[in-house]
Amino acid sequence: MQVKFIGATETVTGSKHLIQTDKGFMVLLDCGLYQGLGKETTVMNRSLGFDPEKIDAVILSHAHIDHSGNLPLLVKQGFLGTIYCTPPTLEVVEVLLMDSAKIHENDIEFVNKRRKQNNEELLEPLYTTKDVERCLKHFKTIPYHAEFYLNDEVSLLYTDAGHILGSAVVNLKLIDKTNKIIRLTFSGDVGKYNDMLLRDPEVFPQADYIICESTYGDRLHEVDIDAEMHLLQVVKNTCLEKKGKLIIPAFSLGRTQEIVFVLDKLKNKGLLPNIKIYVDSPLSTNITNIMRKNVTCFNDKLQEYIKTDPDPFGFSNLVYIREQVDSMALNKNSEPCIIISASGMMDAGRIKHHLAHTISDSKNTILVVGYCTPNSLGRKIKDKEKNVKIFGELFELNADVEVIDSYSAHADYNELIRFLSCQDKTKIKKMFLVHGDLEAKISFKQKLLTLGYLDVVIPNRNEPFVLS
Ligand SMILES: [Zn+2]
Repeated sequence: MQVKFIGATETVTGSKHLIQTDKGFMVLLDCGLYQGLGKETTVMNRSLGFDPEKIDAVILSHAHIDHSGNLPLLVKQGFLGTIYCTPPTLEVVEVLLMDSAKIHENDIEFVNKRRKQNNEELLEPLYTTKDVERCLKHFKTIPYHAEFYLNDEVSLLYTDAGHILGSAVVNLKLIDKTNKIIRLTFSGDVGKYNDMLLRDPEVFPQADYIICESTYGDRLHEVDIDAEMHLLQVVKNTCLEKKGKLIIPAFSLGRTQEIVFVLDKLKNKGLLPNIKIYVDSPLSTNITNIMRKNVTCFNDKLQEYIKTDPDPFGFSNLVYIREQVDSMALNKNSEPCIIISASGMMDAGRIKHHLAHTISDSKNTILVVGYCTPNSLGRKIKDKEKNVKIFGELFELNADVEVIDSYSAHADYNELIRFLSCQDKTKIKKMFLVHGDLEAKISFKQKLLTLGYLDVVIPNRNEPFVLS
């Protein structure tokens, strides 16, 4: 029985961990895309690092593309088995993978135009929407808390990770050739406690081995300031005093719904000024509809809230926009309003058009509510650079820039330690740290050792470990 770490080892993205049982059954935990690694990204994504035909099953922790985004390629390259996930994850992954395929198709079309002019060989997209359709046929959903036997050697139990809708911790029972049970838990991505929408990460069964994420292994979240009042103050300042537009770039999954929910609460309290609010993104609109269908996944506070307001993601004055023509019409409208659009890091999607139309006028405000990688347009705006490039053109940044940093989908290191605290440390044979920058992993490893965890390892790419 062994485990090998193929992705998310030296990187945060590309989550892929491979388990081989004594009888040779191969289970892949996640099949994510590498993201944001420059030119190398495409090369790394095109080679999975193992033979897809030899994989018997995939167990998916959650729908984020760095965990699910290379499943269509896996199927395209010969995988014939089943992909397991929770029911809400399947709904979300379907729209995310379709969106991902369209991005790959568009990107390659752009690259091929140039290659054609240079008489170079044309490239194929990583995968297409047709590949996604084929991939989706392999999915089987397993609800939280329902133990499921994949075969006579592997059982799966999902517990709630509280990270995004449908996210799960993967708890496996592996039965070796001597009939001994080895318990391995894969954290997936762990959410923070007291989230606005989701439940807290759950306690999970005692494990012998734990594969734990460490994204925030060296960081603590900022102390929660009153994000609701901060947002209200930005709305009033922009839309009432300056009579401008408030532009909020936000991830389609999670952050958009959090912002809308805060506005919904302000509306119910009678505090929200009478202005139009637009969510301008077909992907955000689709995901919001999935959230509406899965209210049982929300935390108790939100369950209580929907008793008096059945739709926490909708109210008068709030409009969801799908069509491009309606999106473009917003740019001609000079009325004060709020526009929430994707992508969160501002490098793609309709948000770029809204920024191009508003960024140079001081009456407008751009509100940054999410993490932006270095070099992204979002980071440049967050850092208030004097001039920024959008669609190859330089724009003066005259709009106000506001930041609310208290939103996050990841547990910080104190919360990761709290998540692990349900375990008897002395019974854990080995803890593997993945999904974090090297500094974060080293720092988190040190903290765990200080707390009394016995054996904490930072695995290298493709390094195998025996499970016994
Ligand atoms: Zn995630």
